[in-house]
Amino acid sequence: MLSTRITRLKESATLKMMERAKALEARGIKVISLDVGEPDFPTPKEVVDAAYKAMLSGYTHYTPSKGIPELRRAISDKLKRDNGVDVPADQILVTPGAKQALFYLYMALLNDGDEVIIATPAWPSYWEMATVAGGIVKEAPPADGYGLNVEAIERLVGERTKMIIINSPNNPSGAVFSKESLEELVELAVRRKIILVSDEIYEKIIYDAVHVSPASMPGAEDVVVIVNGFSKTFAMTGWRLGYLAGPKQIIDAATKLQQHSATCAPAFAQKAAADLLPQADKLAKPMIEEFRRRRDFIVSRLRSMGFKLDPPSGAFYVFPQLPDSEPDSTSFVERALDAGVSMTDGKPFGGFSRNVRISYANSMENLKEATDRLATILGK
Ligand code: PMP
Repeated sequence: MLSTRITRLKESATLKMMERAKALEARGIKVISLDVGEPDFPTPKEVVDAAYKAMLSGYTHYTPSKGIPELRRAISDKLKRDNGVDVPADQILVTPGAKQALFYLYMALLNDGDEVIIATPAWPSYWEMATVAGGIVKEAPPADGYGLNVEAIERLVGERTKMIIINSPNNPSGAVFSKESLEELVELAVRRKIILVSDEIYEKIIYDAVHVSPASMPGAEDVVVIVNGFSKTFAMTGWRLGYLAGPKQIIDAATKLQQHSATCAPAFAQKAAADLLPQADKLAKPMIEEFRRRRDFIVSRLRSMGFKLDPPSGAFYVFPQLPDSEPDSTSFVERALDAGVSMTDGKPFGGFSRNVRISYANSMENLKEATDRLATILGK
């Protein structure tokens, strides 16, 4: 009954774990979720107020498919101000989330058998979207400290390489790629005429590093597409709002897909984001300060139990290597879940069978309790 396209698709690993955790909770076992991909903070009141006002003033209908002009202008201004990137408003497509934006890109760029290079470790949806779109994935391993390994990427480039996808700050490692490595990668993409997709959704969740967009580099205007959104910065995952910015031909192709699928992103969410985007840094600051405190706590606690990791510079995840006594990520994740701590196996992030992804988008109290439980199962 089902298409081959769909039968090739795997279920989302993170969502599957969340469902298992819920099943344990239904049996009365309190599970602390360290597998969540969203801030545990409420959406800032300023954003909620702006959306409420927008709804009252009629932002409750379809909008132009590309997005309301005031939001596309606000995004264009933001790209100039924060990233040093010049993209006119008509080369920006507002989407219902960054995930949808990525999906359009894969569908717009790939023919059957075209190759996509993913800089690993990386978010599992990058693989599955390639599968739906008929693409073939090549996985590039990271450099030391989960940095960008441009040499490894270059070795994978072939006749059919259509796109390279990177994500910094990174999910799952929290690594922030260096400006030098990004410059090398843009140079490669320009030289080999490959589209470089830069997922910058965690841009503002950053601690001791500076986010640099590859779109700001020489030659980037023809090859780099930025994917970004509001889910993480504004803690508004449920509102569904993201965007693409890049070469006109690609944005127009993605727009056609949106016209015939989602139509547009939610109108009131677009208006609230347009009003508040200039204040993004101010609004996100308290959340980032709290994330930094938790990162410091979780890194030192995990290290004391024998996990191997450096403090990551961004996002709200750590991707430690398991203590030497633990042979395999899947069995460790299962044991942790039985002890009431859910986390994500490193395997779907590019075959990291000695790593787990732990999200610290949870209260300090829960992080303490969860790490105590892990210490117990490790006998520490
Ligand atoms: N890219 C990455 C790397 C992510 O981790 C996520 C969310 N888990 C997304 C994109 C999708 O975000 P959105 O809510 O905007 O669809």
